Amino acid sequence: YNRQRLLVVANRLPVSAVRRGEDSWSLEISAGGLVSALLGVKEFEARWIGWAGVNVPDEVGQKALSKALAEKRCIPVFLDEEIVHQYYNGYCNNILWPLFHYLGLPQEDRLATTRSFQSQFAAYKKANQMFADVVNEHYEEGDVVWCHDYHLMFLPKCLKEYNSKMKVGWFLHTPFPSSEIHRTLPSRSELLRSVLAADLVGFHTYDYARHFVSACTRILGLEGTPEGVEDQGRLTRVAAFPIGIDSERFIRALEVPDVIQHMKELKERFAGRKVMLGVDRLDMIKGIPQKILAFEKFLEENASWRDKVVLLQIAVPTRTDVPEFSFTHGNITKHLLKKLTSQVHEIVGRINGRFGTLTAVPIHHLDRSLDFYALCALYAVTDVALVTSLRDGMNLVSYEFVACQEAKKGVLILSEFAGAAQSLGAGAILVNPWNITEVAASIGQALNMTAEEREKRHRHNFHHVKTHTAQEWAETFVSELNDTVIEAQLRI
Ligand code: UDP
Repeated sequence: YNRQRLLVVANRLPVSAVRRGEDSWSLEISAGGLVSALLGVKEFEARWIGWAGVNVPDEVGQKALSKALAEKRCIPVFLDEEIVHQYYNGYCNNILWPLFHYLGLPQEDRLATTRSFQSQFAAYKKANQMFADVVNEHYEEGDVVWCHDYHLMFLPKCLKEYNSKMKVGWFLHTPFPSSEIHRTLPSRSELLRSVLAADLVGFHTYDYARHFVSACTRILGLEGTPEGVEDQGRLTRVAAFPIGIDSERFIRALEVPDVIQHMKELKERFAGRKVMLGVDRLDMIKGIPQKILAFEKFLEENASWRDKVVLLQIAVPTRTDVPEFSFTHGNITKHLLKKLTSQVHEIVGRINGRFGTLTAVPIHHLDRSLDFYALCALYAVTDVALVTSLRDGMNLVSYEFVACQEAKKGVLILSEFAGAAQSLGAGAILVNPWNITEVAASIGQALNMTAEEREKRHRHNFHHVKTHTAQEWAETFVSELNDTVIEAQLRI
């Protein structure tokens, strides 16, 4: 039988492409969450449409890349450097991304974005139209088109203009902010209207979905219902679909001999000390300075713990080091990132100077990424994981930690501003990362927790992570999209 085709449209294809010659490319699949989610979904035949992360100005190169990508079921959208600069660096990363995460930009930066706003929004629409052209070219009747994230808010409208029968879903991977924030966007109405062209609109949490619906009611004057948003009898279904991880992949990794060996080394290295862990992209939204300051306060107030606990902070550079990713953040965010990096280094240096000895320091800070197996080993030997995001769409690190803790049953300290707090709240210790005193006290609570309570909290989280997987998330979204379209046809 024929499986339903699923066209997954995201800004970036899940591959990195490196040009080897005039007409030759080497490709590497990047196994992000979305990829493994959709690999696990067997009832659909998935195809990917997106930008390959490289500028390919010549036709020979474009043809060769399209051909190479086709073998991986990927279809490229070619964006030139100017468009990428304005749409991606500019509108996506300097405007939408900070706004959706409630990041107040310095006044002069906000002014700068206000001045360049019109041309960047024009480029955003143009880029979205280019994605729509590629989708339209490859669309076959009955396909499901699933658009992803804040880069493509204009896409549902472009697609429906091509073909009103196309089944179109849109999912946002970041928070959707309060309508009071969204209303400051000059393009507030146009963006909402284009998203509403989709049949189904999905968010990680009910809060984000509610914010979206109230933005539509307050800014557009439309009617919000428990089902979604209604406009002249037409309903756009709005709902929460919390993403998960491929938990079995992490559980299996802990049985790999290399991982077991690595865990043994880590245990020996930190023998006699409790291990606390932070894993974040080095990004303003992750609250890394807040986390480290809370740890400092804990050490200040608990002298007896000073040589008995260590904080390992993995701060993954936000892809700025890899040339084809150098567009990941715009100029403004780039200079804020630089400032953040030196700020974090300064605090870590100060704390290690204060509380370190000749043989040991309380904080190990790494400005780099780890491979999958090293990460799993680290998750597994951790006693307390610390997630202090100031805003975070979901935060999968917290899920991954839980998946690796069946043996140890460690404690998760989790920011209430991460989407994951909605699902792991009952097992984790929830904190307000802005309240350093509270986070410091939670560190004490976590380190001193009885085995019995740790077990109880872990059971709750582990059950959730195992039963709410990425595959299940993707299946639920797509079948809800199919159902929504059928219901809409019945209503007419
Ligand atoms: N991660 C990684 N390499 C590392 C550390 C982390 O690939 O060295 C991964 C981690 O496994 C997780 C992702 O980065 O899947 C981070 O996702 P999360 O949702 O926590 O935050 P985001 O970076 O998307 O804001």
